[in-house]
Amino acid sequence: MRLKRWLRKNQNSHRLSSPALRSFGESCYNATMIIDFHTHVFSPQIKKNRSRYIDSDPCFAILYSNKEAKLATTDELIASMDEYGVDISVILNHGWATHELCVETNNYILESIAHYPKRLIGFGAVQPHSNEAAIAEVERCARGGIKGIGELRPDVQLLDLNDAAVMEPFIEVLRKHKLILHTHASEPVGHQYPGKGSITPDILYPFITSFPDLTIVCAHWGGGLPFYALMPEVKKAMSNVFFDTAASPFLYSPQVYNQVIQLVGSDKILFGSDFPVVGQGRLLKEISSLDLPQETKRLILSGNAQKLLNINIV
Ligand SMILES: [Zn+2]
Repeated sequence: MRLKRWLRKNQNSHRLSSPALRSFGESCYNATMIIDFHTHVFSPQIKKNRSRYIDSDPCFAILYSNKEAKLATTDELIASMDEYGVDISVILNHGWATHELCVETNNYILESIAHYPKRLIGFGAVQPHSNEAAIAEVERCARGGIKGIGELRPDVQLLDLNDAAVMEPFIEVLRKHKLILHTHASEPVGHQYPGKGSITPDILYPFITSFPDLTIVCAHWGGGLPFYALMPEVKKAMSNVFFDTAASPFLYSPQVYNQVIQLVGSDKILFGSDFPVVGQGRLLKEISSLDLPQETKRLILSGNAQKLLNINIV
């Protein structure tokens, strides 16, 4: 890991400059690039004034009323990435209820990706109920270089995914800018936890079939949606749907990796930690301990994300 860090520092942010060095790097540290597809960052202002945001936003209140629930700034994420050898993180926004909070926090995401263009990929937040203002905000974020919208929280944002009048113009602008939609997902059964919510497979599936060409990433293993890929028509309908591993140790035993690979294929799974709720090191340790072929691990840790996010590393 230390070598990997050294190489990154000395070779201009993980782009090894000469073929000799590149092969040295690859053979020395088994150069699987690591892309964390699910992290959350908040501005120092939000961190400092946590209670004010708890009072003004229901989703933030659900997730962060507990003082133990960690909030991290971009610099703290970068420190974690350096510690655990994560090359790139996707910084997701949050399911804010109001347009104003979406804009305020998108500003921080946009600043962060401008500051760390080689380390961070940004996803913005919108409240689709704000109609034209939401569309304009997607346009602004796209101009600033974001690659998607999310983590959407349709339940807490009071968004009916099947409300065509609200959803169609929103999805249209995502399509126009080739943006990915990242949504929270949760299990209809099992233990409760803060933020579990009700974005269950039966809610997600009609939405997926309504917008078959939209690239959708369902967080937290899709709340069990991959199981239904055993139904051939469901598998077909999910050809543009991906699943991230965020918070996996809180939800499933490590067998989930093998099972979901069998169900949907290793090309549909994205490593995501849910930092800072779950440490990046914890998830990476879990994945490295799995008895999976090296190529499968490579796809999960970065190959699939590279393809989705159009990241070409020489
Ligand atoms: Zn989530």
